[in-house]
Amino acid sequence: MENRTLLYEGKAKKIFATENPDHVLVYFKDDATAFNAQKKGSFERKGELNNKITSLIFNYLEKKGIPTHLVEQVSDLEQIVRRVDIIPLEMVVRNYAAGSMAQRLGVEEGTKSPVVIFDLCYKKDELGDPLINDHHAVFLGAATYEELKELYAIADKVNSLLIQLFDKIGIILVDFKIELGKLPSGEIILADEISPDTCRLWDKETMKKLDKDRFRRDLGSVTEAYVEIYERLKSKLEA
Ligand code: UDP
Repeated sequence: MENRTLLYEGKAKKIFATENPDHVLVYFKDDATAFNAQKKGSFERKGELNNKITSLIFNYLEKKGIPTHLVEQVSDLEQIVRRVDIIPLEMVVRNYAAGSMAQRLGVEEGTKSPVVIFDLCYKKDELGDPLINDHHAVFLGAATYEELKELYAIADKVNSLLIQLFDKIGIILVDFKIELGKLPSGEIILADEISPDTCRLWDKETMKKLDKDRFRRDLGSVTEAYVEIYERLKSKLEA
């Protein structure tokens, strides 16, 4: 990575400037964190697998009419994306209770929800990305009510498309998180990543967890789980 200008370094990615002012380069690291970075580690091929899985999924969503920031995957660890202002909100979409929601509400993990659940979180590491509501988001200046409407619509469409896609490869989409970015024109597009780091993915037959919970909960075979997701997606989407 010779002479590149580092614009930003996060927990799992580095962002570099490119010659095109409208584009940046995303480098996917092998570092893994969980529970607001209280648990730290890394595992083999994590960066590569998340880069490749995100590229496959974003290309698929783009073909289905969801605008994304992805321009192209340029190497095993890197992709070029459109430069956006990241909206400081995490949109979590849930089809089954798991993780923090199962804990907060005292329901068993794996309980199917009769409705799609949207949780809005404020992206603020110092506060541990707290759960907020629409009014808080507007109060914080993170988004307007109009923009929130759009965020929910995008999240709902992404959820429907991903439920179908994962179902075809024998996977239950339990929940996931997306981040959205704003172009200078004001257009809101899908940004960041969609990978086993940001989704809960369970094998339909065995209910085996094939996502970051293997790292969070020390379940072992983390790389193998990510490879499984990549291989299944690749054979479906590159067929
Ligand atoms: N998630 C994420 N980044 C976060 C928090 C959550 O990608 O900072 C994803 C997580 O992988 C899961 C979904 O969002 O697929 C819901 O996570 P939850 O709120 O249950 O929190 P967790 O149990 O992961 O702490």
